[in-house]
Amino acid sequence: MEESRVLVVGGTGYMGRRIVRASLAEGHPTLVLIRPEVGLDIDKLQMLLSFKAQGARLVEASLDDHAGLVAAVAQADVVVSAMSGAHNRSHNIHLQHKLVEAIKEAGNVKRFIPSEFGVDPSRMRHALEPGRVTFDDKMEIRRAIEVANIPHTYVSANCFAAYFCPNLCQMRTLVPPKEKVQVYGDGNVKVIFVDEDDIATYTIKSIDDPRTLNKTMYIRPQENILTQNEVIAKWEKLSGKILEKVHVPADEFLASMEGTDLANQVGVTHYYHFFYEGCLTNFEIGDDGAEATLLYPKVQYTRMDDYMKMYL
Ligand code: NDP
Repeated sequence: MEESRVLVVGGTGYMGRRIVRASLAEGHPTLVLIRPEVGLDIDKLQMLLSFKAQGARLVEASLDDHAGLVAAVAQADVVVSAMSGAHNRSHNIHLQHKLVEAIKEAGNVKRFIPSEFGVDPSRMRHALEPGRVTFDDKMEIRRAIEVANIPHTYVSANCFAAYFCPNLCQMRTLVPPKEKVQVYGDGNVKVIFVDEDDIATYTIKSIDDPRTLNKTMYIRPQENILTQNEVIAKWEKLSGKILEKVHVPADEFLASMEGTDLANQVGVTHYYHFFYEGCLTNFEIGDDGAEATLLYPKVQYTRMDDYMKMYL
């Protein structure tokens, strides 16, 4: 059987570049959208050229040119979007409406994976302002996909390791704290951490799989389902240094966003749902979902102890 042709939209992004690499590694003919808006962004262009050198084909189209986008989509069997959606970088989830329109018109796409890769937005109808915009926008894209009858898979990848684990779940830093660590409540809520390259691998594995068709694929690597206390203990063991723990009650944590910028406020509300409420682990996966490590047991996922060793 011929490998599905994969078009990656948002291919130079933090997640997108990993999707491109995983698609190439799995042997798929891989197309990467190159937008004329790349302009003078030399880093972006050079990354695209490096994909080309690795065997990808660059397909030129702008999201603002419907006909061009339809022509790009028509060359692929599968479209994976990794459009930006984190306020600390940029949030453009809604732009995917243009992609949905193009996929609808092209009519040939066997699977669309929209940009999600986090908490399942369908479980976040109660989410706090202002962070709920992330989930609301992703749900709006889901509705457009389903109304257009586009075959799809939604990927719920939980916490990107680099954003949440080596910093011991602290906000506003990506590196381990040296003296003190802020602990959310009692620190005993289970959270799920996933290496970003593993997210890309599982995503690409799912694209031709009938078991993930029109379902949500949750990525829950058993050994990476950890409490914040467990993450801290792992780091203390690796570094040989005990940190001072400062426990923060939920109301105090939420109040900390007052007067701060939007990106921080969005972050605080997301952290609240993950670390106080336990929204990543407080439900069982139902018939409308499947779990990636069970679907693809041969993938050797990265354990967080190993991941954090890079930061020693
Ligand atoms: P990035 O910020 O890296 O951006 C990805 C791509 O979006 C860019 O490379 C660009 O594509 C495209 N893009 C951005 N702005 C525009 C625009 N105005 N017009 C057209 N294209 C644009 O995204 P991330 O990798 O951080 O996020 C991808 C997904 O992962 C999102 O859904 C996000 O919510 C999720 N996420 C999840 C996290 C978690 O912990 N679970 C953490 C962070 C993100 P191009 O390559 O064509 O230039």
